Amino acid sequence: MSMNKVEKGFYGEFGGCFVNEDLQHVLNILDENFERYKDDPEFIEELRFYLREYIGRENPLTYAKNITAKAGGAKIYLKREDLNHTGAHKINNAIGQILLAKRMGAHRIIAETGAGQHGVATATACAIFGMDCTIYMGKLDTERQALNVFRMELLGAKVVPVASGQGRLKDAVDAALNDLVENYKDTFYLLGSAVGPHPFPTMVKHFQAIISEESKRQILEKEGKLPSAVVSCVGGGSNAIGAFAHYIDEPSVQLIGVEPSEAPTLTEGSPAVIHGFKCYTLLDEEGNPKPTYSIAAGLDYPGVGPEHSYLKKTGRSEYVTVSGQEALEAFQTLSKLEGIIPALESSHAVAYAMKLAGTMGKDESIIVNLSGRGDKDVEQVFNMLKSAR
Ligand SMILES: *Cc1c(COP(=O)(O)O)cnc(C)c1O
Repeated sequence: MSMNKVEKGFYGEFGGCFVNEDLQHVLNILDENFERYKDDPEFIEELRFYLREYIGRENPLTYAKNITAKAGGAKIYLKREDLNHTGAHKINNAIGQILLAKRMGAHRIIAETGAGQHGVATATACAIFGMDCTIYMGKLDTERQALNVFRMELLGAKVVPVASGQGRLKDAVDAALNDLVENYKDTFYLLGSAVGPHPFPTMVKHFQAIISEESKRQILEKEGKLPSAVVSCVGGGSNAIGAFAHYIDEPSVQLIGVEPSEAPTLTEGSPAVIHGFKCYTLLDEEGNPKPTYSIAAGLDYPGVGPEHSYLKKTGRSEYVTVSGQEALEAFQTLSKLEGIIPALESSHAVAYAMKLAGTMGKDESIIVNLSGRGDKDVEQVFNMLKSAR
């Protein structure tokens, strides 16, 4: 693979586009189209229409008074991405990218998925726009997530199990990239997080920034001032970068990304190029991306978005870890005290926010990005709690 480094798409030393020439050509076309349409008034109007009428935005910024009382300090507000259609933030990006795909004349969408959440969001977006949909998924993952495979099929997608390599997410990404290079004239690769070669991280941030665009307006209405902190869980980093975006230039707002202590990419990783871009990553002794295991499937990725890597290096954001056990407790606490069952991913952010709130004054506030709802995790938690007894 020849290293073809473009200057665009760098966040300090991170990001970039380290891919072969064929793929570079395809990504250049994507970049040109993204730049051309993102500020186009008709594109914006159509995107706003679907955000409102299909996803159900804007979603509320809910004051969580009971966990605030329990934590005993700053007011905790929840940005309710869990209330979006399909139950998480991923649909924001899927709808944004599919509208771009439509403008580019694509009628076939491909995507990768690990646990299946991005595959379901993509299949959903394809259903409403009548697009042909192919989802690549590691063979091992299709066996472990049989119900999500069925969901995608119900939504009209074709799920292709990838048996090569270890049959995991990375192998699914490779298969999707090969498909893209072969079929780019009519095919659009809808990537699921703020990772990958340029322009994907920039594009995914653009479509997820709606989270902080709304939350900033909402907190100013409710509190009359900015929050002291914004807290989000970090897998690849898309919900976090969306929740941070409109606060990055507000130095009084602390930005905190929460990683599972079982996959501490930013907290313990070192800079390296993986999957076509440079970021902090966990490597094994041989320099290969290290397999991770988090109870939250969506946080299980050995790399992280390049902008988070940059925000860490410059000190603008802070990254901390929370264990699976602490997340499991927060999952139960939020359910019991607020009547909201959070995704296990989001439970990591809730756990840290409750600790942080206790160290702050009652006149301060914290926004927690509740990236998704926990219905998908109830059976897993049931089994974990049963075996713990
Ligand atoms: C996929 C997912 C995540 C992690 O992905 P990011 O790109 O880091 O946001 C977090 N929460 C939920 C509910 C998810 O489905």
